[in-house]
Amino acid sequence: MISVQDGQNQILRQLPEPTSPEIVAVTRARERVLAEDLHAPFDVPPTDNSAVDGYAVASDDVPTGRTRELDVVAELAAGAVFDGAVAPGQAVRIMTGAPMPRGADTVYPQEVVERRGDRLGVGPIPKGANVRKRGEDVQAGTIAIERGTVLRAQELGLITSLGQWQVLVHRRPRVALLSTGDEVIEPGTPRKAGQIYDANRFTLRGSIEQCGGEVIDLGIVADVRDELRARLLEGAGVGDIVVTSGGVSVGVLDLVKDVLDEIGAIDFWQVAMQPGRPLAFGRVGSAHFFGLPGNPVASMLAFMLFVRPAIYKLAGRRRLFPDTAEATATEAMSKKKGRREFKRGIVQWTNGRWEARTTGPQGSGILSSMAAGNCLIVLEEDRGDVAVGETVLVEPF
Ligand code: AMP
Ligand code: MG
Repeated sequence: MISVQDGQNQILRQLPEPTSPEIVAVTRARERVLAEDLHAPFDVPPTDNSAVDGYAVASDDVPTGRTRELDVVAELAAGAVFDGAVAPGQAVRIMTGAPMPRGADTVYPQEVVERRGDRLGVGPIPKGANVRKRGEDVQAGTIAIERGTVLRAQELGLITSLGQWQVLVHRRPRVALLSTGDEVIEPGTPRKAGQIYDANRFTLRGSIEQCGGEVIDLGIVADVRDELRARLLEGAGVGDIVVTSGGVSVGVLDLVKDVLDEIGAIDFWQVAMQPGRPLAFGRVGSAHFFGLPGNPVASMLAFMLFVRPAIYKLAGRRRLFPDTAEATATEAMSKKKGRREFKRGIVQWTNGRWEARTTGPQGSGILSSMAAGNCLIVLEEDRGDVAVGETVLVEPF
């Protein structure tokens, strides 16, 4: 038996370099991973500018505690630049975002002034009010976004605010995927007694896509040595990673291990976890190989624990593991010491705290428990049964 963490560490040690970078348009870069530090070539905003629609003035020109009359000498539209300077006794009409005119350091919001023709009545105002400073968003020369960051909507806008419309990202890791088992058949085809429809290939496909991988679907392979060998070699030719489900438990027809011994290198692990104990990890050709268990919950969980961080690492991500949070158990949970258990749970904010309960029956074949849940409840190795009111770790889906 090895622990979940030892397994993760061993896997990550085998995956040295992220995939090569490629340039993509920002419009196609969402959820991709930045492959270089993005330096700001200039300050954003590039000049001091107005935070409101109003009137730019030189604040020294407005004595404290007094009102004063100013002359409005110009009207600046958004994007317009005032080529003169604001002199004592003067104000310039300015729009949100317009560069501050020379001589002005403060902006009156239009709601607080009294305008009569070209005259403006104003009261005292703190110096610098309603001005956004040059570089307050991003300073020239600093790193605006670190390499390894997953680009979300906000990063995309930050990149284009620096004038860039293309960005260097890592190539998506390619993951060749297949299901094994004589009994497993394609959805949409008629089912005979004893057969089951393939669930894992679709759970895993979705999981691969969710974590930024590109799926190469190699279908279902029967438990026939030559077919499995051929399909694995095909997968190794096209994928950075090859993932199979089924065929890694110790039944007679569990061929994955035999075939991998022949055409690659394989470690066969019993991981101290529940569900999903058996896991195969190794290589076929130049690809990394993961043989996940056949039971649908076990295969998805093993994917989350072992394949996802590997894809993340290949994709060049800085963060490989998800955030966890603490919640109060509202249900007693059975737990065996010495292994890490993962219950499918529902966590919600109730009574001013995060509360967690399981989704019900927790068998490793009960895929609906994953669908009903919004988190994993993670019970650590050294922990025994959980009583109502105890704190548990949750990992939101
Ligand atoms: P195995 O590890 O091949 O012995 O499979 C363990 C259990 O998972 C068996 O009940 C299989 O029928 C089931 N199973 C294997 N592959 C799949 C699949 N792709 N979709 C749904 N269930 C599967
Ligand atoms: Mg099987």
